[in-house]
This record gives sequence, C-alpha cells and structure tokens, in this order.
Amino acid sequence: MTGADGDGDGVADWSVETVGMELDAPFGISRGTTATAESVVVRLTDGQGREGVGAGAPDAYYGGTPATAMTVLPDLLAVVEGEPPGRLQRHHAAFDDVVRGNPAARAAVDVACHDLHARQVDRPLHALLGHDPDRAPRSCYSVGLAPPEAMRERAAAAAEAGFEHLKVKLGTDRDRERVAAVRDGAPQASLRVDANGAWAPHEAVRKSHWLADFDVAFVEQPVAASDREGLRFVYEHSSLPVAADESCVTAADVPDVADRSDVIVVKLDKAGGVWPALRQLHAARAHDCEVMVGCMVETNASLAAAAALAPACDYADLDGSLLLADGADPFAFDGIRPDGGLDLSVVERGSGVTGR
Ligand SMILES: [Mg+2]
Repeated sequence: MTGADGDGDGVADWSVETVGMELDAPFGISRGTTATAESVVVRLTDGQGREGVGAGAPDAYYGGTPATAMTVLPDLLAVVEGEPPGRLQRHHAAFDDVVRGNPAARAAVDVACHDLHARQVDRPLHALLGHDPDRAPRSCYSVGLAPPEAMRERAAAAAEAGFEHLKVKLGTDRDRERVAAVRDGAPQASLRVDANGAWAPHEAVRKSHWLADFDVAFVEQPVAASDREGLRFVYEHSSLPVAADESCVTAADVPDVADRSDVIVVKLDKAGGVWPALRQLHAARAHDCEVMVGCMVETNASLAAAAALAPACDYADLDGSLLLADGADPFAFDGIRPDGGLDLSVVERGSGVTGR
C-alpha cells in the first residue's frame, strides 16, 4: 500500500484496452455510416486497491484513432503514475507536453482520474463538481440518417420508449422527406436537427424556414466547421437558433463562434476530458451561449462522466450507449435511463459506472 504520496492515494497501477461494440442498427450521419463503435478504456488502481475507470471514443475527424490512442496512452498514463488522480490541472499541463492531438485518449485518462478521485473522497462525481443532480436536462435520442421510413420507425420507437427530445441527423437532398417522416412517427416530440456541416450557408437558411414549420427547436452544425463566415450568415438569417459542434472543439474556439451561435456543444472526446470540457462550458457561459453536453457512440465508462456535466447544461445528448446493441457495452450506468431521463441521484460515488 504505497502510493507516491505516502497514504495510498497515488495511482499505483493502470491498464488500457480497446473495446469494440456492435451498434443496435447502423448509425448514419452526413459524413458516413458506422455499424460498430470502438472505445479505449483506461483503468487506474491506487495504493489502497480502489479503481477508477474512464473511456474515450477516438474519431479521426478530431485527430485520433483507436490505434493512435493506444500508442499515446502509455505516455499519458506515465504522467499520472504515482500521482494523486485529482491533480487534474497539473495532469493536463503535463499531457500537453507529451502528446499532441488525441483528445479521446486524454479524455479516457481524465475520466479515469475523475472517477478514482471521486471514489477516494467517497463522493459522486457530479457532487465533487458542485453540480445539482436535480437540474440535469433529459437526453435526446439521435435518429441517424436512413431511408425516411426507417427514420419514422426509429422516431416512433424512441417516443414510445419515453424520449421527449429527438435529434434528427440530416445533410442530404431528401432532408424534408426525412423530417416529415420523423415528425409523423413522433408527433409530440421536441425535435432538433444536426447536419454535421453538410449544408451550404444559403441552403441552411432556406431549410431553416421549413424546419421551423415542423416545430424544430434548433439546428446543429449547419455548415462546415471551417466556414466561420457561413456560420455567421446562417446565424443572422436562419429561422431557428444555431448550435456549434464541429466548429467549437475546445474552450479556445468559443470566442470565435460565440457571436454566431446560440448553443455550444461540449463533448469529453472533443475537449479532452471533464476538466477541459468544464473550461469550454464556462467559456460558453461567459459569452452568454447556451450549452449542450453531447457524446460519441460509446461506452457508459465515458457517458457516466459526461452525465456529471449535464446539470450545468441546457441540453443533453447522451444516448451514446443506448445506440449500442443489447449487451454490447461492457459497462452499465443507471443514471441515464432508457427513456432519456437523467437521474444522477443513483450515483453513490465516482462517475457511477459499473462493470458488467
Ligand atoms: Mg453534432
């Protein structure tokens, strides 16, 4: 029982693995369709045998693959080895010195550190962050790009399961048909749409007019991430509020998009973990933007930590594990209910994730 700090709180051991998971159904966005998801999972053990777990879903779009994550993880873990896991500011400064990019690998280590630290002090992660569990918004359910009839069925099933908010993936020449099908399948649901950067600015504005007729709440990432002037044009002319996801990766991007976005989308796997995601969240607040906490299609070992941020956000999109096939996720988290309700009161300590 010898942590580096002498009382057993230091990280004494670690392990990493990749976990491949089948999706319940292929998930389409405007950039492509996936049938499997791969996460990197980090486990930390302290000198008293307490374990923290974290995960990240590398996405080449954000700089990183499962292979590059596995390559850089030993260097990231060498930073925390022997150190108390709760020294996140110090850890992240050191991460920047040893690894470029790979935000999902950083997130996996960051989440494992947060989980272990919260378990060491015997507190739920959301409480450690000062977040009120009663303020967490409900998660939406994402209806992926598919033929309109399939999207209608998905929307109807999600509404039947109790989801109140649906996010509709768009970005094709048949967008109107798809939204009409979803609206038909879920007449009562609150809808938001996500083009993942697929529209031209004028196209986005034109589509916003009829999307408003379908009672859509807001449009996420209407234009390409790099098209800041296009985003401004959409923001100024759209019938609907605009959310920035791919256009706002970290806190440093917030000032550039805050005058042309109503909502900033924060994700652990973009920002590099809970600590940098909080910086982004507060930067967005400082610019008077609303915030949505989102995710990749990924394991509960990451989503449980993302859920701890939800009380500080206006919207949540934390359905990443719900899109996996039954039993595919090796981790469970009761805080995200199958109807999209977030119930953080069930978390006793740490992120609340449990291994299956
Ligand atoms: Mg998005």
